[in-house]
Amino acid sequence: MAMAMAMAMGVENKQVLLKGYVDTIPKESDMEVKVTQTQLNPPNLKGSAAILLKNLYLSCDPYMRGRMRDFHGSYIPPFVPAQPLEGFGVSQVVDSDHPDFKAGDYVTGMTGWEQYTLVSPTRAQQLRKIHLDDDIPLSYHLGLLGMPGFTAYAGLFEVCCPKKGEYVFVSAASGAVGQLVGQLAKLHGCYVVGSAGSNHKVDLLKNKLGFDDAFNYKDDPNLTAALKRYFPQGIDIYFDNVGGDMLDAALGNMRIFGRIAACGMVSLNSLSDPQTMHNLYNLIPKRIKIQGFLQSDYLDSFPRFLEHVTTYYKQGKIVYIEDMNEGLESAPSALVGLFSGKNIGKQVIRVAHQ
Ligand code: NAP
Repeated sequence: MAMAMAMAMGVENKQVLLKGYVDTIPKESDMEVKVTQTQLNPPNLKGSAAILLKNLYLSCDPYMRGRMRDFHGSYIPPFVPAQPLEGFGVSQVVDSDHPDFKAGDYVTGMTGWEQYTLVSPTRAQQLRKIHLDDDIPLSYHLGLLGMPGFTAYAGLFEVCCPKKGEYVFVSAASGAVGQLVGQLAKLHGCYVVGSAGSNHKVDLLKNKLGFDDAFNYKDDPNLTAALKRYFPQGIDIYFDNVGGDMLDAALGNMRIFGRIAACGMVSLNSLSDPQTMHNLYNLIPKRIKIQGFLQSDYLDSFPRFLEHVTTYYKQGKIVYIEDMNEGLESAPSALVGLFSGKNIGKQVIRVAHQ
């Protein structure tokens, strides 16, 4: 009876809305948390092939900043002002008119930054069902076993093609992508050094994530000299998560036939940031290959990635650091925190308990 009344009256649906477009690093005040209402059994669901999701976990990812700009030329459209942000989530199906999903299923894929999201049939096709596993927390499907983990796997193996014994450098190394790049490269027999923005993160890289060495780039004003110290013989592979000065410094330290995977440029304040490169000339005499990539180009390898990384994790060969914030209200500050290095490991928001 109480449930029937709740359905009839609807339930609270908190949402995180984008107030307006942003050109530089976003601030908390660029978003607002608003309380709206939704119905758990929407009458218009029948015959629509849509799904109603209850969101459990949301992922904060640096690419979301790109969607806060009024720019339509990218691989993904901008957010719509006054509408909830979108991102990868782990959710439970509350109600479904879609033949592939039923109430109670756990899924991961694009959802809204809100408690409940109505997913269109087209969007529903991009959701992936999660099979519950006692050894794998559901939220790991947003990091280790989700898009960032796959970015690490595809970028390292498909773009950089590592060989045993090679020297690998990873920036933003303790983050969602970087922590897995380093561990996979180690498992592949490489020598791995990571950079990060605090001594605590450096300690995690060396003592928890198994990197051979690590340094705090904020303590080293001369990045080219720092990399020379950590790689006296030069770098074979640079997995670039940050761009800017670190990319320039790495270019000055690459070995002949070195490879650079340009994964992200989180250090740039805006797209119009002037970027001064001093070491580009190395590309030719050292025959360096630099390639930008999107993880979505390699989705055919996703099942192989899932199998490999799940097995490594269960065997204890890979560890995973997650930074969990509680409640949708904490989402704006968590997202903004990515751009000052506040997160320690993969940044996730718990919206509701399972
Ligand atoms: P993350 O590393 O978990 O979080 C972002 C980190 O970036 C921060 O913790 C901070 O770490 C670092 N950072 C922030 N501002 C910086 C600055 N000005 N200079 C240097 N470092 C800075 O994020 P992630 O999800 O793993 O993403 C890492 C990179 O991969 C991002 O550039 C992202 O856009 C990219 N990415 C690309 C793809 C693709 O398909 N190409 C897919 C996913 C992610 P420190 O404290 O260490 O500075």
